[in-house]
Amino acid sequence: MTLIEKFKNYIFMDVENENETKKAAVIMRCTSLFLYVFFTIQTIVLFVSGYPRAAIMSIVCLLGYLCAFIMTYQGYTNITQHFLELMTLAWIAAFVAMMGWDCSYQHMLFALLLFSLLTSYQDIRYKAGFTAFLCIFRIVLYFYIHSHDSLYVPDNRSIIFLTILNTSFTFLLFFIISYLFSKDSVEMEQKLVKYNKKIEKLALTDALTKLPNRRDALDRIEKHLKHSKDVDFHFNLAIGDIDFFKKVNDTYGHEAGDAVLVQMSDLFREEMENEGFAARWGGEEFLFVYTNCNGDEAAMRLNDLRTKISHTTFKYNDTELKLTMTFGLEEYDFRSSVDDMVNSADGKLYLGKTRGRNQVVF
Ligand code: GH3
Ligand code: MG
Ligand code: MG
Repeated sequence: MTLIEKFKNYIFMDVENENETKKAAVIMRCTSLFLYVFFTIQTIVLFVSGYPRAAIMSIVCLLGYLCAFIMTYQGYTNITQHFLELMTLAWIAAFVAMMGWDCSYQHMLFALLLFSLLTSYQDIRYKAGFTAFLCIFRIVLYFYIHSHDSLYVPDNRSIIFLTILNTSFTFLLFFIISYLFSKDSVEMEQKLVKYNKKIEKLALTDALTKLPNRRDALDRIEKHLKHSKDVDFHFNLAIGDIDFFKKVNDTYGHEAGDAVLVQMSDLFREEMENEGFAARWGGEEFLFVYTNCNGDEAAMRLNDLRTKISHTTFKYNDTELKLTMTFGLEEYDFRSSVDDMVNSADGKLYLGKTRGRNQVVF
């Protein structure tokens, strides 16, 4: 693990207390570290520019943020939040009083507001109250500093430098806090989208065979029928039923029956890949949809599939099974409903059963 990765893991480490949130702790850690850097630069600038008292104040803040950073690892997230709010308010007021309004320290109040709104889990009244408080605080500070002399009267160069420093760090802090806050939400949203897709797939897939279920089959047919005005439109529907399937269950057990259904479904999926699709209609009945040929061609292909099934050996443990299937096929006449087609196909299937099974009735 590289040093950067170690550092990242340290920052994103979960909080120990179960009722405190990791997100708030991470925002506090990053804010504290960021302001630690801010005050390190500020201390140097203030010392060099000849404002020693402000520089000492800056060192105190620097130590304060270091404390806050450590506190987030001790399970004091709530206390740290209030500590950070109070300390930030205090130094903004102190620096405005020392350096005057023109050095732009008051801008940090906006970052403080964002910080409080996004890390606090208090109710809306608290948040509204805190917002109003900061607004009044800023106005009072403005009037105070314009009716009192500041401790120092900074020269133009210092004002420009400190204004750039304060403004850019305020904007950066805004960015960091919002990024950390939304990062989680974006991740959650992505997770939710994935989860919804999974649920949707589960709702449309037969659990045993993984073939589309009846609902999905009907949806697919409905979608396909929307293209019925196309010149090359084809739609053939067949219902297939395994012959004497009850015997498999009765002789070898339900699990053997399940294993056969799975193996047969794999075969259908493979064989129907370029034809349309196969779906589990229910029990040991399957639906076959041909969308790329007319009825006669579909009958031929279905017959090929029937032959293939009868030549396939299905396996369950050491048992080898031979099975056949009977099909009823119906071609779309551009008038009938899907229900009518299914009923017709069912009727033909029944006819096939009475005529000796293992056949396609068209
Ligand atoms: P036929 O040739 O007339 O279709 O005879 P058959 O025995 O296949 O017909 P019948 O409708 O009497 O029996 C169907 C059997 O399929 C009964 C039922 O227990 C079994 N079956 C339905 N769904 C499943 C399933 O998911 N797993 C297993 N193992 N058996 C199933
Ligand atoms: Mg049946
Ligand atoms: Mg059957």
